[in-house]
Amino acid sequence: MKLERDVIVIGAGPSGAISSALLKQRGWNVLVLEGQRFPRFSIGESLLTHCLDFVDEAGMMPAVERAGFQFKNGAAFVRGDEYGDFDFSDKFTKGRDSTFQVQRAAFDKVLADEAEKQGVEIRYETRVTAVDNSGAKPRVRAVDAKGVEYEVEGKFLLDASGFGRVLPKLLDLETPSKFPVRNAVFTHVADGAAPDAFDRNKIQVIVHPGHRDVWFWLIPFANGRCSLGCVARKEFFDTYPAQLEERLKKLVSEEPFLTRVLANATWDTPARELTGYAANVKSMHGKGFALLGNAAEFLDPVFSSGVTIAMRSASMAAGLLDRQLRGETVDWTNDFEIPLRKGVDTFRAYVKAWYDGRFQDIMFAKTQPPGIRAMICSILAGYAWDQSNPFVAEPERRLDMVAKLCAA
Ligand code: FAD
Repeated sequence: MKLERDVIVIGAGPSGAISSALLKQRGWNVLVLEGQRFPRFSIGESLLTHCLDFVDEAGMMPAVERAGFQFKNGAAFVRGDEYGDFDFSDKFTKGRDSTFQVQRAAFDKVLADEAEKQGVEIRYETRVTAVDNSGAKPRVRAVDAKGVEYEVEGKFLLDASGFGRVLPKLLDLETPSKFPVRNAVFTHVADGAAPDAFDRNKIQVIVHPGHRDVWFWLIPFANGRCSLGCVARKEFFDTYPAQLEERLKKLVSEEPFLTRVLANATWDTPARELTGYAANVKSMHGKGFALLGNAAEFLDPVFSSGVTIAMRSASMAAGLLDRQLRGETVDWTNDFEIPLRKGVDTFRAYVKAWYDGRFQDIMFAKTQPPGIRAMICSILAGYAWDQSNPFVAEPERRLDMVAKLCAA
């Protein structure tokens, strides 16, 4: 069997759902091949406000609003008895002031269902196992749940396979991330926290008291539950119990804020572990294909930038591909990869500053130079492509300068 479509999308996560809907709206015949059946677990539960701009562009905001996800208006940072938070309404860049914290199983299903309602064809439990882009049109080999294999040929292929990284692996595009290998251990708990125990409208990013490069996330959901995770290098985790829930409980017991907030928590979900998730590619596009979201690059979870980058890449690629399919000559390097990487590089500078301590020095300083909070807040809200923000235009230099001022 051989199918023919205008566009083949690998993966129905956020970047696959948004890109396929935007292309369908422009009149293209899109087939999404998704390896799993939705709803399925995925990590990445704290959204930035900018990502809702793309949900809106794809016409999916009413469905996301109806789903009743936890309201989010900012980010809070905790280190011992030091606390600092950002409210997105204080940001420098114009844009949304709030977003959501979501169980990804439910969120990703809402987006994929909306894409289907708009006419996108999604084949679930269908894995892409091979690709051939040597001919005039790219082809993929798909295998469904019954083991039936078939070929799909398209005019273009979008890889939205996230950590599956289908094309980077099959086409030898992988290149190591410059960040060291870190692991994340995480679970969901019924937190049992009193309503005033902490600000449920913000992600809580908590620094381990003894190790400033080890941190926790506490992401509240709407139903009295929280996502809880800890990020550290493997060598650090090796000194803790091998059993994941025990490991997480031991780490929580070392941190006063979490010990207090989770005193009455019910640990009812098996903990999971992810390792070495930071990844990069030699190129984000090639003959007949482009890479979206995590299939291209993933930095680090600390600033919750993953879904925003995934959706932004989806929106940019859909616009460019539409023009290409209409016969225009387009430039994937200058109109996709370079501008996309600018924002990714902004986040990269912040991630680097988080782990080398500069961001924490700024965050927890007794006084900060006026105006800088609004500019940093914009990046925390996801507006990392706004070149009018000096902290986007020159992130390294600005972060360095302010960290020195704060330390003085
Ligand atoms: P995904 O969401 O991974 O979707 C890819 C889809 O492709 C999957 O459904 C998969 O089944 C499918 N697929 C894979 N291989 C194949 C195949 N061969 N054939 C067919 N289908 C296939 N981001 C945030 O924004 N906020 C956070 O708080 C956050 N926290 C994170 C914490 C950790 C520890 C990690 C590791 C990441 C975190 N992220 C976060 C990042 C976030 O998980 C990703 O950036 C986001 O899910 C990327 O979306 P995507 O559409 O590119 O891919």
